[in-house]
Amino acid sequence: MKRNRRKGRGLTTVVLNNNGGFLSKVSWLRAFHLIQLQRVLPVEYYEITYRSATEEHHVPSVVILSRYVPYDYDQPAPFCRENVFLRDQFVCQYCGRHFPYNRLTLDHVFPRSRGGKLTWENTVACCSNCNLEKENRTPGEAKMILLSKPYRPSLKKVRSLEIRQRENLATRVTV
Ligand SMILES: [Zn+2]
Repeated sequence: MKRNRRKGRGLTTVVLNNNGGFLSKVSWLRAFHLIQLQRVLPVEYYEITYRSATEEHHVPSVVILSRYVPYDYDQPAPFCRENVFLRDQFVCQYCGRHFPYNRLTLDHVFPRSRGGKLTWENTVACCSNCNLEKENRTPGEAKMILLSKPYRPSLKKVRSLEIRQRENLATRVTV
């Protein structure tokens, strides 16, 4: 049981609106509870299981709302680690290499130690090597080139990137 729990830690579940549109991501345990409350239906599962005291359950990777919830997809996407990685397409914005979720970190372009904020405009996906190299410096001070200017994407944009990434993501986390 312990092993299964550890394996499932950190896994997220995609929540789709009733029309199939991307809504958000929640922890798989939250998704599991929503299934039990019949607020969502499972669509896809990870290839791992979760064992409760009495039963074994499949861990949901995608769930869909039982009822449609109106949502404005032109509004800005909520800021979170996962959405920043999606915006940057899981590419370190300094060395340009692609990394899986668990090997990326959030870099404050203007260093946090000097008042840099945790916002869309001041945060990029960054690998641990580049993060170490940059230290508490701006890209200019560290003589590192930022590959793209960080911006705040719409939910629509994040959703389209999410759809593109979903297959890769599912493959990566089940390895
Ligand atoms: Zn890098």
